Amino acid sequence: MALNFLTIKEAAAGLKSGEFSAVDLTRACLDRIQAVNGEIRAVVEVAEKSAIEEALVSDTRRDAGRALGDLDGIPVLVKDNIQAVGTKTTAGSKILAGYASTYDATVVRKLRAAGAVILGKTNMDEFAMGSSTETSAYGPTHNPWNLAKIPGGSSGGSAAAVASGMCLLALGTDTGGSIRQPASLCGVTGFKPTYGRVSRYGAISMASSLDQIGPITRTAEDAKLALGVLEGQDPLDSTSADAKRYVWVAPTSLKGVRLGVPKEYFVGGLDEEVERTVKQAMAKFESLGAELVEVSLPSTRHALAVYYVLMPSEVSANLARYDGMRFGYSANAANLHETYLKTRGEGFGAEVRRRILIGTYALSSGYYDAYYLQAQKVRTRMCREFAAALSGVDCLISPTSPSVAWDLGEKFDDPIAMYLSDIYTVSVNVVGAPAVSIPCGLAQNLPVGLQIIGRQFEDDRVLGIARLFQAATDHHAARPMI
Ligand code: GLN
Repeated sequence: MALNFLTIKEAAAGLKSGEFSAVDLTRACLDRIQAVNGEIRAVVEVAEKSAIEEALVSDTRRDAGRALGDLDGIPVLVKDNIQAVGTKTTAGSKILAGYASTYDATVVRKLRAAGAVILGKTNMDEFAMGSSTETSAYGPTHNPWNLAKIPGGSSGGSAAAVASGMCLLALGTDTGGSIRQPASLCGVTGFKPTYGRVSRYGAISMASSLDQIGPITRTAEDAKLALGVLEGQDPLDSTSADAKRYVWVAPTSLKGVRLGVPKEYFVGGLDEEVERTVKQAMAKFESLGAELVEVSLPSTRHALAVYYVLMPSEVSANLARYDGMRFGYSANAANLHETYLKTRGEGFGAEVRRRILIGTYALSSGYYDAYYLQAQKVRTRMCREFAAALSGVDCLISPTSPSVAWDLGEKFDDPIAMYLSDIYTVSVNVVGAPAVSIPCGLAQNLPVGLQIIGRQFEDDRVLGIARLFQAATDHHAARPMI
């Protein structure tokens, strides 16, 4: 097996036994990026020199008998909305073109402290708004399974990079599905931790009550290894939580595990082949001893409306700081007011401007009660419904995305169609729960993802159930031909 396609677990064992070095592993990933990134365009910046140096440091440390944990020497790519000194952080936007990271995000600091090798940055939808990685100022990323298809988004670069063997671990951010949906569409494992379990310090804020950083890997076991390094309370993020207070032992067998199937998730809009593939995976769970239980999430029909009011509202506040005075791009104009207008008009893409406008409208004094406040009320109701649905089961399972990857350009000019593709993922962010997407087969020769959702801080249970499924199946081992 090529080194760049190993799991973290396998690579850690190989490094430990001396079968290969961190430099070998890093070189294999860099060579792969060199070979296929021209077509896939998953990576927007390669930090080749520093990556090799970091790998050498890791090897030297290991030779001296001071190897760190499982992530020591593991090559990682970071989504371009997360600060990492030595790289640019542009969030896929022209308004931040050339912006050099000024500090390390907490997750990057933790990765470095664990000995991981930072290979570079991955492409994304502008400011993480999108489901296809087409709104990036760098141009779109292509799906490694079929280059004419989108990779999903907004962490499409990170998912495509793991799927095509450019790294062993990639960081993504998930505000409404941006880790899980691209993982689903690219056939890899994408994990969105409980809100607050991983510090957001150093990730460019989009919608702060929904944003979460998490790992994209080949297996749930690897996601757990990554989570172990990334998680923890951070004085620099007041919404971060001390996960150690919540110790949940992961199940060791699927026997007797109860999985809730939300009945509202299997209605119109779900592609037939995707439904069949997901149901086969559910049947596999049953054959492994799990019990499927029908549950209800009645507010599912309001989920997108709630999300697409709350998220743009927070966007309109968070993106006010890009005014041409402080960061990145600044347009040439006659006076201050025109500089603001021109900078934002030229620096932001159409989707970002659309959301700022929607959010500003929803928060304005005449409409606040009707939209923002109402959405917050439904959010509270959704939290109660999730708690009720989860009360008699271990986790919920569902499709991650209602379809497989679609053609580049297909939904680009139709924001509503694009938003509808987020139906199974947004609620999880609205209620702050942990969820993972794992590959569960192919439809139309493209990957299908299965989503497992848990109670807050029961991340280990979610990943444990995913790991047991992967131990009994090999969907996660399927590789694109590229
Ligand atoms: N696709 C969703 C959106 O466009 C989710 C984005 C995300 O999770 N960053 O808002």
